Amino acid sequence: SHRITFGPLVAAIDQGTSSTRFLVFNSKTAELLSHHQVEIKQSFPKEGWVEEDPKEILQSVYECMERTCEKLTQLNIDISNIKAIGVTNQRETTLVWDKETGEPLYNAIVWLDLRTQSTVESLINKTPGRNKNHLKHKTGLPISTYFSAVKLRWLMDNVDEVHEAVVSHRAMFGTVDAWLIWCLTGGKSGGVHCTDVTNASRTMLFNIHTMNWDPELCKYFGIPMEILPSVRSSSEIYGLMKICSSRKSGALSGIPISGCLGDQSAALVGQMCFQDGQAKNTYGTGCFLLRNTGAKPVMSDHGLLTTVAYKLGRDKPACYALEGSVAIAGAVVRWLKDNLGIIGSSEELEKLAASVGTSYGCYFVPAFSGLYAPYWEPSARGIICGLTQFTNRSHLAFAALEAVCFQTREILDAMNQDSGIPLTQLQVDGGMTSNRLLMQLQADILCIPVVKPSMPETTALGAAMAAGAAEGVSVWSLNPEDLSEVTSEKFEPQINPEESEFRYARWKKAVEKSKNWET
Ligand code: ADP
Repeated sequence: SHRITFGPLVAAIDQGTSSTRFLVFNSKTAELLSHHQVEIKQSFPKEGWVEEDPKEILQSVYECMERTCEKLTQLNIDISNIKAIGVTNQRETTLVWDKETGEPLYNAIVWLDLRTQSTVESLINKTPGRNKNHLKHKTGLPISTYFSAVKLRWLMDNVDEVHEAVVSHRAMFGTVDAWLIWCLTGGKSGGVHCTDVTNASRTMLFNIHTMNWDPELCKYFGIPMEILPSVRSSSEIYGLMKICSSRKSGALSGIPISGCLGDQSAALVGQMCFQDGQAKNTYGTGCFLLRNTGAKPVMSDHGLLTTVAYKLGRDKPACYALEGSVAIAGAVVRWLKDNLGIIGSSEELEKLAASVGTSYGCYFVPAFSGLYAPYWEPSARGIICGLTQFTNRSHLAFAALEAVCFQTREILDAMNQDSGIPLTQLQVDGGMTSNRLLMQLQADILCIPVVKPSMPETTALGAAMAAGAAEGVSVWSLNPEDLSEVTSEKFEPQINPEESEFRYARWKKAVEKSKNWET
């Protein structure tokens, strides 16, 4: 049959908190040719616990690959044009598996999970001056439930299978990237156990200055270093795909996996924020604003994290970023749908909120997993305040959207204070940005324009770029002059700044109440 010829194609696996995607891009134009997406189940076995099934995660990757390959075939696009595959993933989520059986030894503990709250509190209490930033000089991170080390410690202390596997040298630890790369390159028969510097920088076991696992940190958390994956750059060939040849996606066998970036780093790359000072905000399950700080790690005085942004090649320098992390953004939409049932789908939220156009004085602080940046308050809990007889579900929907915008405003303020150079516009992406009301509200609350690229899959694009640019693949140039122009949409602030400040001041009051609701 007739086949359309394309330049080299590059694929990306995007394994997020709420879903998995497989996407195929044209490396010359960055055009998205085909993709498939599968939702991931989350389980909440106890209050504050969030888990996902590692096998379901892996299966969802296979399914997305299979469906995408079918779609490509229908489009008459030859799968053999795919020259490389990149991986991007939900960060911090922690897995342990047995290298001999290939079996996961427990569910994946998702980044949002709060089961380690008491461990974290006792660790902080043991530091001089009860300082949650005790390890920040090495890791760029506060001691928090968020990062992998405490989750791994919990698994070793509470799951017999994990403990036994560690003792008998059969255990492998990894974040989702490491799990997927190990499985996709052969698993128990020769899989490659590796991660990249961006994912490693979220474990609290990695020294962001030396760019290595840190023996002192591992000792501090009691983690044997032999269970850790090897740490590689974000753009190099890690291994080759091994996939069952009886499937359509069997055609992907032998293709190098050559890009790996945590999702927020991948979005920074996909948004082409390669210059010192450039920033993007991604609205997914949580919300993450990253600002490139170039070759040097900048430590925040305002509750932001210092993290590795990317290292695009073995011999390339690492770039760092300041990051403001918000735990709950899109997750509040899922909560309104699944827990309260006031909407039937995420898309319905916009219509509902738009029907009133105001929260009518209602403020919703969705501190379900405590508060992340800039507060790092694990004991905070969600509150809804300012209710009257008049309040209805539409106002609540509006307040939920506003909450996402206010949280971003807090991060942006911290970022501007740390860097001394205010951002003049905000580049955005992520699943929630399809909500146009949210984008307009965000511009109104930040009082700067919000710019959204017309191709929304920037996270996957970043991983594909890293994979395509790897040494030995080299089908994608990361030279700024060669990169294709992106078309975008701009949302300008429309309300007056006094109105915006008034609402933001009210929000701040609500945040104080969520921090102290028990006292
Ligand atoms: P992740 O990468 O964390 O899995 P995505 O970027 O895929 O997240 O975005 C999914 C999130 O965005 C979900 O939490 C969902 O509730 C939310 N979302 C999707 N569409 C909309 C919408 N139209 N309005 C508001 N929220 C939305």
